[in-house]
Amino acid sequence: MLWSHRVIALAQDGNGVTPGVETPEGPREFRAGWVIGTDGARSSVRQLLGLPFEGHTWPDRFVATNVEYDFGKYGFELANMIADPVNWAVVARLGRENLWRVTYGEDASLAEDEVRARIPAHYAAIFPGREPYRIVAWSPYRVQERAAPSFRVGRALLAGDAAHACNPCGGLGLTTGVIDADCLIAVMTAVIEGRAPESVLDFYAEERRRVFHEVTSPLATNFKRTLSEKDPARREEDRNGFRTNAARVDNSVTATSLSKLIFGKPMPV
Ligand SMILES: Cc1cc2nc3c(=O)[nH]c(=O)nc-3n(C[C@H](O)[C@H](O)[C@H](O)COP(=O)(O)OP(=O)(O)OC[C@H]3O[C@@H](n4cnc5c(N)ncnc54)[C@H](O)[C@@H]3O)c2cc1C
Repeated sequence: MLWSHRVIALAQDGNGVTPGVETPEGPREFRAGWVIGTDGARSSVRQLLGLPFEGHTWPDRFVATNVEYDFGKYGFELANMIADPVNWAVVARLGRENLWRVTYGEDASLAEDEVRARIPAHYAAIFPGREPYRIVAWSPYRVQERAAPSFRVGRALLAGDAAHACNPCGGLGLTTGVIDADCLIAVMTAVIEGRAPESVLDFYAEERRRVFHEVTSPLATNFKRTLSEKDPARREEDRNGFRTNAARVDNSVTATSLSKLIFGKPMPV
């Protein structure tokens, strides 16, 4: 692990890759068999490969806040979605006792200090009670549905947000990045150890891209729609769907089949 190192260039030939890196001691070149770009949604590796980030940025703005408040007292579970045409929110418990992530939508035209000033008004609409709270952190951001047209170019591969980014409703961003890593470890290890042909890397690249386009992004998009649906008839339809699902005794089967879709086909190694 090399801290304060920034990839700024990338060359490759038939035997390996040569990333150019900015380091505290000045620019330096590395040589390796492969490079995996896991450098986030603004990935330098993806850009150096000449790959666009295809898709769209949502017009609305999200505000992620970390707040100390006793949601547990009101029966909130580890992850909760509040569906409302205006005051929708995702409320999830973070690791520490009573520290929660509350994410909601905000007017995209507001300046940052106005976003901060309006947090109490949003909380008043979202929180179940009127007890005092403590805001630990907050951050407005824009959300995206985008993916690279290919997750492999020769000896360079992409994983996580560098490869694909979706809106956070449903918590699928990090989740699918971790699955990418798991799949890539399996195929890359097999190639390096000579147990599998390089074509398994194409399988990784195509399968993880397919999962994004066919499963993750549509799911996240539907979660986003459901949370803030304005049409009363569709809201009622969604509510009935939730009720039916919640009442099913084989509820865990639904969750398992969803996980299977996100995991995609097993890597062929
Ligand atoms: C506010 C917010 C809330 C979210 N909530 C959820 C959630 O509830 N559930 C969920 O599953 N996902 C959530 N996500 C998405 C999740 O955070 C991302 O999907 C995840 O962090 C992606 O991980 P990553 O390792 O691919 O990229 P990142 O976490 O972005 O890490 C990229 C790393 O690469 C480094 N880097 C960048 N450029 C270079 C370079 N040129 N050279 C070297 N290093 C570089 C960066 O410093 C960084 O350390 C949320 C995102 C945001 C912004």
